[in-house]
Parts: sequence; structure tokens; C-alpha cells
Amino acid sequence: MANGQAAQDFHSYANPSAVRVRHLDLNWDVLFEQKILKGTAVLTVERISQAEPLILDTRDLKIEKVETSADGVAYSAATFTVGSSDKILGAPLTIPLPAKANRVRIYYSTVPGASGLQWLEPAQTAGKKDPFVFTQSQAIHARSWIPTQDTPQVRVTYNARVRTPRRLLAVMSAENLSGTARDGDYSFRMRQPIPSYLIALAVGDLRFKALSARTGVYAEPPVIDLAAKELSDTEKMVVATERLYGPYRWGRYDILVLPPSFPYGGMENPRLTFATPTILAGDKSLVSLVAHELAHSWSGNLVTNATWRDFWLNEGFTTYLERRILEAVYGRPREEMEAALGLRDLNEEITALEDPDEILHIDLKGRDPDDGSTDIPYEKGALFLRHLEETFGRARFDQFLKGYFNHFAFQSITTEQFTAYLKQNLLDKDPALAARVPVDDWINKPGIPASAPKPASSAFARVEEEGKRWLRGEIPAAKILTARWTTQEWLHFLKSLEVSAGSGAARMAELDQAFHLTRSGNSEIAFQWLLMAIRNRYEPANPRLEEFLTTIGRRKFIKPLYEELAKTPEGKERALAIYRRARSTYHPIAVASIDDVLNWSGQ
Ligand SMILES: [Zn+2]
Repeated sequence: MANGQAAQDFHSYANPSAVRVRHLDLNWDVLFEQKILKGTAVLTVERISQAEPLILDTRDLKIEKVETSADGVAYSAATFTVGSSDKILGAPLTIPLPAKANRVRIYYSTVPGASGLQWLEPAQTAGKKDPFVFTQSQAIHARSWIPTQDTPQVRVTYNARVRTPRRLLAVMSAENLSGTARDGDYSFRMRQPIPSYLIALAVGDLRFKALSARTGVYAEPPVIDLAAKELSDTEKMVVATERLYGPYRWGRYDILVLPPSFPYGGMENPRLTFATPTILAGDKSLVSLVAHELAHSWSGNLVTNATWRDFWLNEGFTTYLERRILEAVYGRPREEMEAALGLRDLNEEITALEDPDEILHIDLKGRDPDDGSTDIPYEKGALFLRHLEETFGRARFDQFLKGYFNHFAFQSITTEQFTAYLKQNLLDKDPALAARVPVDDWINKPGIPASAPKPASSAFARVEEEGKRWLRGEIPAAKILTARWTTQEWLHFLKSLEVSAGSGAARMAELDQAFHLTRSGNSEIAFQWLLMAIRNRYEPANPRLEEFLTTIGRRKFIKPLYEELAKTPEGKERALAIYRRARSTYHPIAVASIDDVLNWSGQ
């Protein structure tokens, strides 16, 4: 948005077209015993309309005191009101501003159950000795730890000072001004303007290992060496992405490997991707997640969705870029496998969703924006871009995307702004080609257009052939040629058994004996196997299912497993028994989802 304009964001109380936050100075004590952050936020605001108050988003914040000043000279006490709290949006904090006031200092603390923070006991960490805390601000959880205009169309720079127990290290999505020396007092600076959902903090017993001059990894001591080994291709990925889409504009690119309760695969916090430890498979087979989060440094962090209904501009572009990076670093067959798996997931999702939720430019009014986080913005968005690439040719489309990232760099844009840019810079230049891509159907209609690309993988065709020979009884399971299969081939094999009705408990037992899948340490394979175990009542996998659900908190894995269990009365009993023990170890975002799945009412 240009100055003074604002897109309608149904998920924020803020009034950025009248008063706009431009910079934050944050100062906190991290109090592990009370499980709170306590301190101040100083907001520098731009006043477009002098008559209007500043309206901020908050959720469960304890506001002690508010002061205002002109240019930070002589603060004086200000009045403020906290409006009534909405279940999804939280509560507006309204602060009338005196003439000339452009700084607002808010003294506040968070609550132990803040939706954007997870406080871990030492037992929930890899090291088991120290507590850990981390934030997850996307979509609208920044407001539970920072009083600000929590809408992606408002971009801010920030400075932060964080005090922690001396043994622990604090890291943020910003330039680290204190290095990795531990003294319990850390300073950060983010000079590029970012939306609030990209402000991030983590504190724990962290170590750092450099991967290249500008990339590195943070993790707990027991995990750091494994993480550094697994993520050693990071610099190659940055170079490949720069070659395609222009310079990396954020300085350093580091990855923080979190404890296993992190509810997501990764979060693209600028300069410092937050990642689940479940990607550490030992063979780099799950590093597509790094390609994805890195790609967000262009699509999402540099050019940002203005509201959550434009989320596909972040995720569809990023999923497309992710595959291009994988192709550049690991070759075309890997890209083909990932794209084919993506298409399968998309088709499954489309069978399950209602029509309105299959639309890229989704209507999320009155709903939690986390509801929009299905395969639609990711996979349908990526398929749309692939359609454009295949129609206009790779060279032309790459040039278009590079121009797009340049044109909208450090801006937050709506779907309408994207389509206008697309029309002017690609479609109108070649109307004959443009006629082959039904842009309006892609963006505004449910389902997938009939002319959509159909990514296929020749490696997968061979896997299916092997599977068929086994199912026809021509070879025993032990003779299936799996020795050189990648994770992606295993996943495809297991998923195709389900389609051809070739699973079943007896079949699973045979495979398990040959390949020890119940004990697989690869989180993606284990997840797919356990899902099949529930469906087919394959009981030898029960202890592993319980272990998986009580040690991993990644929502992508645990939610479908609980959903599958909940389909039968006995399964639901088991699910509740496990959930009773595991619930307190999950992140608030995961808890909200699983509570829904199991109709949890505190049993
Ligand atoms: Zn993403």
C-alpha cells in the first residue's frame, strides 16, 4: 500500500490510513518462572489524520500504563481504553494522541497462556536442563506479545533489548548486535520494514554453527552437529535463488532448529528461519522445508500479502519458488517428485473442502485466518504459477517474477494489485498466450481449471510398477527394489498402496517385517505409515503411534492422526487417552486445532 491507503483487513482493529506505526523499540525481561514477558514497547507513529486516535491490536495483554511524547522528549501520561475482547481478534487498545505526539510508550506484560508464545519446561527440550521459549506470530498472534497494528499491510522497523537468565541465549528475526556471547542481555536491530507477523524471539540453551560466511544454524547442544550436517546445502540454495530472482536482501540467513513441540514445519522469520527438528532425517531428504522458508525471503517477506485473504501471494509463490530451488540444487527428478506429491495432496484436499474454501482469493471474514492455511494457497497457488511458466516459457516467466519482486520490494500488496501487475507485465504483452490461462478461474473459482499442468514423475512410475508386482504376488515384499528409494519415493509407494487398496493389516505386517517402517526415524515416512496403521487397524504400530503423538507437536502430523483416530468410537477413546497426557506439551496453536478435532471440553 502507498502511504495513507489501506486494504480492508477483517483481522485487525487498526486504523493505519489515519495513524500508522512505523517503528518499534521493544524492551523485555523474559521471566521463565512466571512464563511472561514484561517490559515496554515504544511505538513511533505517522499521523495521517490528526484527529484520530491510535488503535492497536492486543490479545490478553496486561497494559499497566501508557505515555505519549513528541519525538521521545518528555513523556507524559496518556489515557487509554481496552475494548471488549473477541475470541478470534482479541481486543482493540485505543490511545487518544495529543497534538504533535508521535511516540507512544506502553508498559505491559504478557499472560502465561499467550497464543503467540510457547514456554517449554526443561523436559520438553533436547538438553533437558534449561527452559525454552519461542514465539510464533503468524497469522495474528503478534498481538498476544506486542501491542501493535497487527496487520500485514503495516510494516515496521524495530530495535529490541532482551534480558534473560545468564545461561541462555536470545535470538530474534533481526540483526544480532550482541553476537553469541552469553551475558543475559541481548540487543537486536531490524532495519528493513517488516510486517508484525515476522517479529520473532526465541530463548534457550542455544549454540551456533556457521554453514558459510552468511549462513548458519542455531540449535540446542545435543542437536547442533546433526543440524549443521543436514543443512549444509543452505548456501547453495541461497546462491541458486539469487541467480533466479535477484539478490538476497536481508544480510544473514540463519536457521534456528527448535524443540519438537514447534507447531509448524518452519516459519520464515527474516534473517532467522524457525524450523521443526522433524526435518533432520539424516539424509537431507526433508530439506525442501529450508528451500521453502528461504524462498519466503522473496515471496512473503520482501513482497507480502496485504491481508490474510491474499495469503496465496505468500504461499503459492513460495511453494513454486521452493521447487525451482530444489531443481537448481538437486536436479529435475527431485522437483518432479515434490510437485507430483503436491498435486496429490491438493487433489485430496479439494475432495475434503467446501467450494468457497477452494478459492485462492478466499473470503475469511469472521473466521480465524489460521483456517485458510490449507493446501489451496500453497499447492493451487504454485500450480497456477506453473501454468503461467509453462505457457509463457521459463525465460520469460523468470524475468517477470524477478521484476515483480523488485517492483513491490518491501511492500504489502493485495490480490488485485498482483493481477493488475500480471496483466500489464505479462498477459497484455502476448494476448494469444494469455488466452490459454484462465486467470479469473484460478484466482476466484473453486477447483482446478481443466487446462492446469499435471506434474508427473518418472521415478514414481517405476515405484508404482514395483508395488504392483508385489501386490500381484510376483515378488515378496523383501524383493521390492527399495534400496535406492528416496523419502519421496517411499511416500509415493505408501500412498499408492492406499489408492490401490493394497494396504490392509496383513500387507502392512509383511512390509514392516521387510523394511521396519514402524521404527522409521524419518518423520514423513513414520507419519504416513502411522496414518495407514490407524486406518487398517495394524496394532503392532500402536506403541509407536503413542510415542509419536507424545513427542512431536508439528500440527501437519498430529492433526491428521487425531482426525483419523476420531473416526471410530474406540479410536476416539484412544485419541482422548493420548491427548489427555500430551495436550500440555503442545503449542497453543496445535491445541486449538486438536481441541476442535476431539471436541475437547477439558476431560
Ligand atoms: Zn510458507
